Amino acid sequence: MLKIVLQQVVGNSYYTTGIFAVGVYRYEDKVILIDSGSDEQSASRVADALQAENYIVRAIINTHCHPDHCGGNYFFQKKYPDVRVFAAHDEKMFIEDPKWAPRCFCGNAAPFSGLKNKHIAPQKPSVVTDTIPYQDLTLIIDDQKIKIVTLPGHTPGSIGIITQDNVLYSGDALFGASTLSKHPMLFYTDIAQTLSTFKKLKTMSVSACVLYHGGMIENLAEVAQVHEQRILETKDIILSMVQSKELSLDVLTQEVMQHYNITGSVISFTLTQTTVRAYLSMLEDENLIQVIVQDGLLQFKYKK
Ligand SMILES: [Zn+2]
Repeated sequence: MLKIVLQQVVGNSYYTTGIFAVGVYRYEDKVILIDSGSDEQSASRVADALQAENYIVRAIINTHCHPDHCGGNYFFQKKYPDVRVFAAHDEKMFIEDPKWAPRCFCGNAAPFSGLKNKHIAPQKPSVVTDTIPYQDLTLIIDDQKIKIVTLPGHTPGSIGIITQDNVLYSGDALFGASTLSKHPMLFYTDIAQTLSTFKKLKTMSVSACVLYHGGMIENLAEVAQVHEQRILETKDIILSMVQSKELSLDVLTQEVMQHYNITGSVISFTLTQTTVRAYLSMLEDENLIQVIVQDGLLQFKYKK
């Protein structure tokens, strides 16, 4: 396994090399982390890179609740008992208690065993010590000013962080080129919010942006535009499927998985269906489709 090192963006703003670009903002011998890795193992590799520079972790800001972003909280809270963990209210319960995400994907019923794993929820609980109000604001952590910007869409409480070097850490609001090519269907849970977030990102004038999956980019507006295009294409594909005939949620999910060649597993089906639901809710809000129950099936009907 390759050793993780700190990569400087500009000034005191860094990110870790490796599969996850964990954000690191340094001041004196202290650091604030933006997200924490997927589990104890990945967090300990980040900790080794920090240890090599004698840095102490003072705080973690979680961009959202997904386990690859907050699964390392437990490790850092054990290593640094005073570490503060910041997250938005809508993300907090999923970060703190691993039982919620699998239940959430199953309509809050007891979850299928295929969803009780580290791809769906952090494997160990952690404590969000500071809940961030969901608005653009400035946090003061140890006299350091850290800007928070709301970037909803991937999850309801997703945030971005802008350091004093004017570097934006955008979490999973945007993905790097390799994720874009590997995953034609991007995971967003609210499509209208996602499109507004892309608009917001396009107007931001930051020195650089760090994608958790993809590392540093300098062409933020262009990358946001590519994402917007992808979302609008997927919306058209789903609408055209419903236009041809009434379809149930499961059949629609099947057609989307076949269209995008998504490999079948309980996880991939569940995540695809969640995203399909998000597009359907948007199409219903736009008065393009009707949600009906027919012959015991939840179906989606095009409104002519
Ligand atoms: Zn995510």
